[in-house]
Amino acid sequence: MSATIIDGKAFAANVRSRVADQVARLKEEQSITPGLAVVLVGEDPASQVYVRNKGKQTLEVGMNSYEHKLPADVPAVELYALIDKLNADPAVHGILCQFPVPEHLSEAEIVARIDPAKDVDGLHVQNIGLLAGGQKAMAPCTPLGCLMMLRDHLGDLTGKDAVVIGRSNLVGKPMAQLLLRDSATVTIAHSRTKDIAEVVRRADIVVAAVGRPQMVPGDWIKPGATVIDVGINRIDAPEKGEGKTRLVGDVDFDSCAAVAGAITPVPGGVGPMTIACLLANTLTACCRANGLTEPEGLTA
Ligand code: NAP
Repeated sequence: MSATIIDGKAFAANVRSRVADQVARLKEEQSITPGLAVVLVGEDPASQVYVRNKGKQTLEVGMNSYEHKLPADVPAVELYALIDKLNADPAVHGILCQFPVPEHLSEAEIVARIDPAKDVDGLHVQNIGLLAGGQKAMAPCTPLGCLMMLRDHLGDLTGKDAVVIGRSNLVGKPMAQLLLRDSATVTIAHSRTKDIAEVVRRADIVVAAVGRPQMVPGDWIKPGATVIDVGINRIDAPEKGEGKTRLVGDVDFDSCAAVAGAITPVPGGVGPMTIACLLANTLTACCRANGLTEPEGLTA
């Protein structure tokens, strides 16, 4: 293996520690405590774990955490009334509704209801538009985390050839916008891309956000390229025992690590960065709401 392993766990810990320093400074100098409200509808076990982790990490960096749990059959009007209340609450700087929500609710309508200034997930059309327009936006957490790792590893991204595999609103498209904003030359590949191997072979930076286990083999990677693997896929792992599974990314780690200059592992790469960036976005939202200078190195 020749590639440097980009340690997302350590990087995320560093981001959280920088957020915690800024939160302490805000409290001391401005008597302001950033607050993040998380809304969970229903009792999906995975969502409950995510929400618990978010709450725990929010408190650990010194922010206020507000958790709102609603029953799975909550009428939309009740959920919207809660969002309106959180929008109006000056102690709440960030609002996140944990997805997926039960089928009778519309994710698009929920996101549209959240005040764009408090939309720390960066999913509101206003934030999508601001990002696309190269203006001050709230960037979605996972692509923001990828960007931070790329900047840290490569420095200036100007002129780099970047290929983003995947065009979802959550990851692929905002990732491409962020790379473009940093003056990379960006190609977005997707399920209809012709000769995707050739497209990826041109890239100095590959970001894979597909949701297909180990789809990208090492012979698609240009020697020395930086590979960011967003994918989280669970596959059978008979070598660990009957019925056991393990997590893998969208790139075939071993063959890609043999060619790449640097690569993020799964788990322990992009994954831990997502909550760290949620906290960074909440801090940014708090600074903007109070007319204060934004934290350096923690925004797009
Ligand atoms: P998504 O909404 O399902 O989008 C997948 C994208 O991949 C689509 O644009 C699709 O193209 C493209 N695609 C599918 N098959 C392809 C193929 N054979 N060749 C090229 N492109 C292909 O998924 P997502 O939400 O972006 O998530 C992607 C992965 O990242 C998933 O594994 C997810 O679990 C993971 N994820 C991780 C984090 C984290 O915190 N680390 C956060 C979010 C997501 P079309 O548009 O043409 O269909």
